[in-house]
Amino acid sequence: MEKRVFTSPVFGPIHSRRLGSSLGINLMPASRKVCNFNCIYCECGWNPEPLQQGKKEGSLMPGRDTVALALEEKLRMLAKEGKAPDAITFSGNGEPTLHPDFSGIVQDTMALKNKWSPGTKVCVLSNSANLDKKGVMEGLMLSDLRIMKIDSAIEKTLRLINNPEGGYSLERTVSLLKRFGGDFTLQTLFLTGSVDGKIVDNTTAQELEAWYDLAEELKPRQVMLYTLDRQTPAPGLHKCPAEKLYSIARVLKDKGTDVIIAG
Ligand code: SF4
Repeated sequence: MEKRVFTSPVFGPIHSRRLGSSLGINLMPASRKVCNFNCIYCECGWNPEPLQQGKKEGSLMPGRDTVALALEEKLRMLAKEGKAPDAITFSGNGEPTLHPDFSGIVQDTMALKNKWSPGTKVCVLSNSANLDKKGVMEGLMLSDLRIMKIDSAIEKTLRLINNPEGGYSLERTVSLLKRFGGDFTLQTLFLTGSVDGKIVDNTTAQELEAWYDLAEELKPRQVMLYTLDRQTPAPGLHKCPAEKLYSIARVLKDKGTDVIIAG
């Protein structure tokens, strides 16, 4: 598959189906994905082999100052051209909250956007699997928008879709998400298909029942639904049809939840 790999800490602006014109921030190493999930649909492909002994992923990640300098240069240039992106988005080659200076970098990013592009929203796309690590909650709360992934309310299905690293617990993740007091966007990718001979489908009646209950429990400010857009590392996966996404959205809207469908 063609992988999406970002070779610099600041990229774009690109058009994002979820966020409009978006300047991306990649806190992961150039050309190397780092994630504590290994999703079957990841646009960056499967996780690479671990580094050789003695080498640490963190040493390959851009430093706080490097990110701030690159971002300021880009924002200054865009301001000169009279352009303001809709969003500055932490995404890139993996899970941004794994950067050891995540919170400090979000702090710098907020200061720079206030200086150069105050109308722009700073967003973090996260898989929600790192919320108990030092500084992560703090960094997420500093940003304007937290877009937090939960692809299934049933742990067995989530494990099949996201392949979380050992130690992951959906129950624990949900209890940590509650600390946002609903001030976040719950993001879910719906798909069907099979992986290694196992059916994977987070759109069944049982899945949706559990997922609606989860949304009700978390009371997010917004729910964002989407489906596959590009080739996936695992073969045999299928998009959730648009009509199905609309019918899922309708159930939540009828309960008074703000829902958007991206894609
Ligand atoms: S959480 Fe995001 S970056 Fe990590 S494997 Fe899943 S899709 Fe890829």
